[in-house]
Amino acid sequence: MVSRVIPVPPFDLVIFGATGDLARRKLLPALFRRMQEGQMPEGARIIGAARRKLSRKAFQDFVREALAEFEPSAAQSPKQLKAFMQSLDYLAVDAKGDTGWTGLGKKLRPDTIRAFYLSVGPSLFGEIATRLNKHDIATPDSRIVVEKPLGHDLNSAQALNARLGACFDERQIYRIDHYLGKETVQNLMAIRFANALFEPLWNSHYVDHVQITVAESLGVEGRGGYYDRSGALRDMVQNHMMQLLCLTTMEPPAKFNADFVRDEKLKVIRALEPLRIKDSVRGQYRAGGGEASYLDHVENPDSHTESFVALKVEVDNWRWAGVPFYLRTGKRLRTRMSEIVVVCKKPPHSIFPEMAAQGPNVLVIRLQPDEGITLHMTIKEPGPGGMRLTEVPLDMSFAEALGDGHHAPDAYERLIMDVIRGDQTLFMRGDELEEAWAWIDPLIAAWTEAGDRPKPYDAGSSGPEDALALLHRDGRKWREIES
Ligand code: NAP
Repeated sequence: MVSRVIPVPPFDLVIFGATGDLARRKLLPALFRRMQEGQMPEGARIIGAARRKLSRKAFQDFVREALAEFEPSAAQSPKQLKAFMQSLDYLAVDAKGDTGWTGLGKKLRPDTIRAFYLSVGPSLFGEIATRLNKHDIATPDSRIVVEKPLGHDLNSAQALNARLGACFDERQIYRIDHYLGKETVQNLMAIRFANALFEPLWNSHYVDHVQITVAESLGVEGRGGYYDRSGALRDMVQNHMMQLLCLTTMEPPAKFNADFVRDEKLKVIRALEPLRIKDSVRGQYRAGGGEASYLDHVENPDSHTESFVALKVEVDNWRWAGVPFYLRTGKRLRTRMSEIVVVCKKPPHSIFPEMAAQGPNVLVIRLQPDEGITLHMTIKEPGPGGMRLTEVPLDMSFAEALGDGHHAPDAYERLIMDVIRGDQTLFMRGDELEEAWAWIDPLIAAWTEAGDRPKPYDAGSSGPEDALALLHRDGRKWREIES
């Protein structure tokens, strides 16, 4: 196997919100794993910034504890752990005031790439961008990284884009959707565009419909305050599921290059038919199997926020005309799994009497848990006595196929290093973000106007009955939610 890892130049990475949950659980462990893999360049520095006053030593202790909890393998790599600790620094900086900014400017090296990761609440994004500019800390080559929630609707997304755009060029802004950093999601592009097998069939002539499922077994506990103002449509569909839909349906870009890929994704979003209430199902989990209900985790006892949503979506273009895409995502479902299921049409003519009873070819691209591909095919059942048909899976688990040494890096490992490399391919562009909101907003307005209430579903089930009906009425059915 030939592999070529694009080197990462030395950098100064400032993590605003370095004492927060995201930094502790995801960002710092991801950076450490890059160090373990020998991919942290000599001279890389990670500078934590948050409100509280901490010495460098106290921050190092904080990071050591975070690694012990979220990356226990750190203890087996004492040399890398020591080097990682040496790369850390800390400064108290007030995003809303003037404290710390001059000191931060002095800490950063003049000829080194600067990246500012805003791991803070979204109300601080504009404040920090403005101060980085005002204090001349951002250079023309600096990068700024933000992540969801990137707006609450089109207006707020436009306001955010305008605020960031006043201080940084689009080529400097990295909007993280961590789904794009997942190996399997990138693999979707490799499967489609690095194999000649699928692409000729990837259209309305051969595809009957597509199902995209992102099921979570966890509920909203701990995040109820945020989630209740958001809901499944805003929290999962506008961003993550939209990205999966785009990568599944986009035309082949001429090159694997940031703007070529993002141009193609944008064309898909622009081709989406407006969402209609009758093609949507909202759900909210109630207590079940010993688990609490959604309403137990939020303040409003009469909340209408959906913890589940299913949609029938149409991509109104030449390739996909007439092919429905069914999307569903929810919390507290039977199990945690994500997959893209491409259901093919049946052969146009059957020479086998039994054929009518056989299912169509189905290609399942599993994103989690066990990443891989399964192609369900029809073959002859072995043995004499006539031509009997049976269905078999052609199954490939990537972990098995690539061997024990295969380590799927966490999305953040890949994405942070891409920021430093200056590669925006796996980050959302501002126009993409706005178009996605422009597509989502009218459905939310329609739900509100109609007084639509989410349908209850049992915790641990596969969602509300109405979600099944969304496909039944088209003579189709969901694949089971199972691991
Ligand atoms: P968090 O645990 O509440 O941490 C917030 C961080 O912001 C803390 O380090 C805090 O510093 C710092 N901060 C707050 N006000 C500040 C100010 N005025 N000046 C400087 N620093 C300030 O939040 P989080 O869960 O890490 O989330 C951070 C961002 O990532 C949010 O936008 C969130 O929506 C997003 N996100 C989080 C997750 C996740 O898994 N947690 C997942 C996806 C997206 P002090 O500790 O010093 O107060």
